[in-house]
Amino acid sequence: MNYDIVIIGGGIIGSSIAYHLARDGRAGTIAVIERDSTYAKAATPRGSGGIRQLFSLPENIEMARYGLDFYKNFDQTMTSSDNQISVAFRRQGYLFLSDGGSEKVMEQNFHNQQKLGVKAELLDKTQLLQLFPSIYNDDIKLAVYSPDDAWIDAYCALTGFKSNARALGVTYIGEEIKSAVIKDKKIKSLTCANGSTIAGDLFILAAGAWSGELAKYFDVNIPIEPMSRESYYFRCDKEMEPLPFIKTETDLAFRPEGEGFTGGMPDWSVKAGWNWELSPSRFEDTVWPALAQRIPSMETIRLERSWRGHYARNKLDYNAIIGPWVADPHNLFIATGFSGHGIMHAPAAGLAISELLLEGQYKTVDLTRFGAERIVTEKPYRELGIV
Ligand SMILES: Cc1cc2nc3c(=O)[nH]c(=O)nc-3n(C[C@H](O)[C@H](O)[C@H](O)COP(=O)(O)OP(=O)(O)OC[C@H]3O[C@@H](n4cnc5c(N)ncnc54)[C@H](O)[C@@H]3O)c2cc1C
Repeated sequence: MNYDIVIIGGGIIGSSIAYHLARDGRAGTIAVIERDSTYAKAATPRGSGGIRQLFSLPENIEMARYGLDFYKNFDQTMTSSDNQISVAFRRQGYLFLSDGGSEKVMEQNFHNQQKLGVKAELLDKTQLLQLFPSIYNDDIKLAVYSPDDAWIDAYCALTGFKSNARALGVTYIGEEIKSAVIKDKKIKSLTCANGSTIAGDLFILAAGAWSGELAKYFDVNIPIEPMSRESYYFRCDKEMEPLPFIKTETDLAFRPEGEGFTGGMPDWSVKAGWNWELSPSRFEDTVWPALAQRIPSMETIRLERSWRGHYARNKLDYNAIIGPWVADPHNLFIATGFSGHGIMHAPAAGLAISELLLEGQYKTVDLTRFGAERIVTEKPYRELGIV
């Protein structure tokens, strides 16, 4: 097996890259190596699918904006006569609430967002009450509402990218990479768990939270670590106005989903690393009281499901690493470290890698500052908004 481009990891990032490269028609042969076609442990189906422009860094804002547009038209673009796609794009907005003392940063971010054309609004308590009467607002210092923001079904987006990439000639290989052969400062081939080898000219590492471990096969050190997050699906019988995706400075994040709500609240005392074990009491002891404090109608809710997924966290600055690796091996590209933003940023990441490889430069969103240079020089480029 020998390909021009080999993508390691077929989650939403790897599949978006494959789709964007193949769409152009000049990339040559492309293979995606994905060990698990059910995506049982991948982050993509476990994420909340939110797309928001409420960031501080222009790169994050512009990538999200590209994602919003892309996902709005996803069903039309990706559906073919024998493959109906629906990502359930729902434009119901995002609401950031400052309840912990960082209102100045949030306001500064809001002004930066406005400069970049984000149609966000600063809400005072009266406006907040008018729009969302269910929200308890006595302790809210500042609210930023972004009505254009949305959410999607991330698993459907992944299958849409994948089926379209396949239709454009991309080969998905159901193998697990176990090691690599490096020769003359280049990756020659990957060795799979079944002993087969996959050779290529260029390799793109897009294996989500596993990327740090896989990079070691290439003698490359990237600061990517898995960060476990517990999520919940719950129902509330009380009638409420349609709520946006709400994120508070004190870490509560939830949105409507079907007949109920989905979301979570990170436990910062949990260390980085793989952790699939559900916490027996966190929802009852911490998350539910926080929900009920913010939305008094949520005093009575019914927890129906809990699950865990892992962020690919770049511990240098929590932002993605995209582009060519800046040392040996010099035929390696990286697209990982998206933390809680990989679904919204996947379309722009795929386009960016495609532009870089096929045009030799970024054309749509300049992601130079998200490159690997800052990793080897250890110069963080930090997001100041709620992560
Ligand atoms: C609780 C939670 C909530 C989130 N909410 C949001 C949100 O609202 N909005 C948003 O934009 N993002 C959100 N995210 C983040 C988003 O889910 C991720 O950033 C995104 O899914 C990452 O995609 P990926 O393709 O990089 O990784 P993954 O989806 O994890 O895919 C990586 C793939 O690599 C494969 N792989 C690994 N090792 C090997 C190997 N050795 N050989 C072959 N294949 C291998 C795996 O099987 C896996 O399928 C959330 C994440 C979590 C956990």
